[in-house]
Amino acid sequence: MNICVIGTGYVGLITGVVFSDLGNEVVCVDKNEEKIACLRAGIMPIYEPGLEEMVGRNQDEGRLTFTTDLAQAVKKSDVVFIAVGTPPKDNGETDLSQVEAAARGIAGAMDRYKVIVNKSTVPVGTGDFVREIIETNRRRNVEFDVVSNPEFLREGSAIQDTLVPDRIVIGAPNQVVAMRILELYAPLERPMIITDVASAEMIKYASNAFLATKISFANAIANICESAGADVVQVVKGMGMDTRIGQAFLQAGIGYGGSCFPKDTRSLLHTAQKLGYPFPLLDAAIATNDEQPKRFIAKMEDALGGFEGKQVAVLGLAFKANTDDIRDAKSLDVIAALLAGGASVVAYDPIAVENTKKVFPQIAYAKNAFDAAHDADAVVVVTEWNEFKQINLDRLKETMKGDLIFDGRNLYDPVKMKRCGFRYVCVGRGNAANGVAAAQSVS
Ligand code: NAD
Repeated sequence: MNICVIGTGYVGLITGVVFSDLGNEVVCVDKNEEKIACLRAGIMPIYEPGLEEMVGRNQDEGRLTFTTDLAQAVKKSDVVFIAVGTPPKDNGETDLSQVEAAARGIAGAMDRYKVIVNKSTVPVGTGDFVREIIETNRRRNVEFDVVSNPEFLREGSAIQDTLVPDRIVIGAPNQVVAMRILELYAPLERPMIITDVASAEMIKYASNAFLATKISFANAIANICESAGADVVQVVKGMGMDTRIGQAFLQAGIGYGGSCFPKDTRSLLHTAQKLGYPFPLLDAAIATNDEQPKRFIAKMEDALGGFEGKQVAVLGLAFKANTDDIRDAKSLDVIAALLAGGASVVAYDPIAVENTKKVFPQIAYAKNAFDAAHDADAVVVVTEWNEFKQINLDRLKETMKGDLIFDGRNLYDPVKMKRCGFRYVCVGRGNAANGVAAAQSVS
């Protein structure tokens, strides 16, 4: 099939390359000329395991091309995916201007029947919005259909998630259109749900809001554990063994960040309120997440006796491991607080340094964790990169001036940390320092 994907970000680029890998002719469009020039030259604008190889192979075989010419790309395609950004406005509402611009572009270029598939995360009702824009702006009276096909990939495992998704959601106005999109995904042999457009749009937000709420629930339990002398790591492990609950998204820490959960939860809350339902549960999940980094930073400040004049190493800048994305990353909150308090910061991340330099050009960046920790009064671990999990703690201690480790992801065994001579500050492990929880843990 001839496919056009508008937007070559995390979602658009991965969608385009995977469809081309399945044998389709795919043209990826972006308005960012630099991005397209890089992609044509084989330089990836984002980090994603396996991406460069897959793009190169499909480019070489002529199935995958990149352009800034939206009209030409739309003209030669049967199915047009919209995968542009949907950032939040200040009031939490989703800014649909990129979707609107893409829809106008499609309308102006349509010369025959097309299926327009919305892959961007958009509020319920956006399918109708896109339909209206195209109807009003099309030059000729050509037919088209608008489908919702929300994306569930996770950065860091985006290709694998696209090849082996838990489910494929297709929201279509009728069975015939649904079948056209189903055909595209059929080679993946994954579970599919075919529904109406509004329900498909809602599935995406409800899923993200539920996962975010699960994390906030674990964080709320962690905050009680801290005062109650319990260890949240043990508590969520015990909870997660219940198959009705599950282990995923139940880890306590410094709070969720990234390009999706914060904006999608706020967007759903905004939609709910607009529709007359205040959604207090989601409101509380968001408030809990807003509080979590503040609590953690307050503990840091307390243990350090203030930030003024202190040198702090920040390990991990990406909002989670295996990505270079720092959108709404908790590292940004931590660094901002450290700088505001008068600390000097040396940061390290395996791949997110370049993106962070654009936000914090004034801090120092190290080429590895030990260099970052050199002469530091404290180390704060913000991202759960594998290379931090098994870090040589004795070497880390030797290179530091101080003995404080702030662990925003509960990566380490508190007993071991104590043995290594660290003062260890983590999240929700009230009795961890005396070793009771770790001693009873059998994994
Ligand atoms: P992104 O910001 O990385 O990429 C969006 C791209 O669209 C940019 O390259 C931008 O230049 C391009 N663009 C914007 N308007 C355009 C236009 N009119 N014509 C051509 N190109 C245009 O965004 P992303 O992270 O890929 O997310 C895209 C959508 O997918 C969002 O709605 C997001 O919420 C959703 N989503 C993201 C993820 C994720 O993990 N990143 C996962 C699931 C869903």
